[in-house]
Amino acid sequence: MASSIQNNRVSPSGYCVCCRVCNMWCWRAFKWLPVLLIVSIVTWSYYAYVIQLCIFTIETTVQQCIYLVFYHILLIMFSWSYFKTIFADIKPIPDKYKLPESELEKLLSAESEDGQRAILENFAKDLPIVTRTMSGSVRYCNRCVLVKPDRAHHCSICSRCVLKMDHHCPWVNNCVCYHNYKFFMLFLGYALLYCLFVMSTCLPYFIRFWKVLANAQGEFGAAAGAGRYHIVFAFFVSLMFAISLGSLFGYHCYLVANNRTTLEAFRAPMFRGGADKNGFSIGAFNNFKEVFGNNPNLWMVPVFTSLGDGCQFPVRREHQLQTFTTPHEAHGYESMGITRSRSDLTDDSPVEASHIP
Ligand SMILES: [Zn+2]
Ligand SMILES: [Zn+2]
Repeated sequence: MASSIQNNRVSPSGYCVCCRVCNMWCWRAFKWLPVLLIVSIVTWSYYAYVIQLCIFTIETTVQQCIYLVFYHILLIMFSWSYFKTIFADIKPIPDKYKLPESELEKLLSAESEDGQRAILENFAKDLPIVTRTMSGSVRYCNRCVLVKPDRAHHCSICSRCVLKMDHHCPWVNNCVCYHNYKFFMLFLGYALLYCLFVMSTCLPYFIRFWKVLANAQGEFGAAAGAGRYHIVFAFFVSLMFAISLGSLFGYHCYLVANNRTTLEAFRAPMFRGGADKNGFSIGAFNNFKEVFGNNPNLWMVPVFTSLGDGCQFPVRREHQLQTFTTPHEAHGYESMGITRSRSDLTDDSPVEASHIP
């Protein structure tokens, strides 16, 4: 790890500034294509469902109204969650994790890997971190020049370290992380409901279409004309998306219940005592509240209610740097205590479980 520490602040030469700016803007525009594709499909599905199905095909006004009301509720919640996932305010790593110039100079001039490791250990002694690299060193990002908070990772697409990084999602052109994970979950959930609703309400008309096709006649085929193809495609497209969204949403529900990110599911976080895939798990309901917050009224609303600050997370007792002086009955989020820095432990004050702000 430490031998790879270099000063990456020197920009590569041999590249004209105009080319670099042009490339940068092309790449930025290219990254929006998956979002554009999703928006196009949703816009088309609106036409297929509202115009072709509800207005031109369904004959009773009551049924039209019921379908339109439910459809628009799901569409609004889905679009709202999607928008929030894309444009979430993803805050940078706090400055206290960043190496000051003096520390960086020391790090770069250190002669051995052990020397670099000691410098990082010394710098991180005041930081509330419990996770380490595979070799037991402090986790350090030489591109952002900072000590990584627990669960933070460097995203090569965003070119920065991100708090509680889950993964980089091209479909939202953003990192899914601490600041938008709740929105991402709601986006998946509402998108799945949207697809299931469109699929189930299109199904009777889809069946009628095939019957008409089989008989080569009938009022549905004659009345609906070319519009019926929109309903058939709406059924197929919503079925296809429902299958993929259902599996993804199910997987992320499993991750939330176990308090793991996608990255941690692939590689368990490393603590002082070794790797532990359940190191951050504090019980299924508390894990859920860590993402969705304490207020049940806001669980299904895409507003930010996740607990904590994204830098410190409750960890299982064996990974804490502290020992509790009093037993705690509940193993809730607030009873697990926060991660203390090693310098905190030198204080004479009694150590008690603390609330995460
Ligand atoms: Zn980084
Ligand atoms: Zn990213």
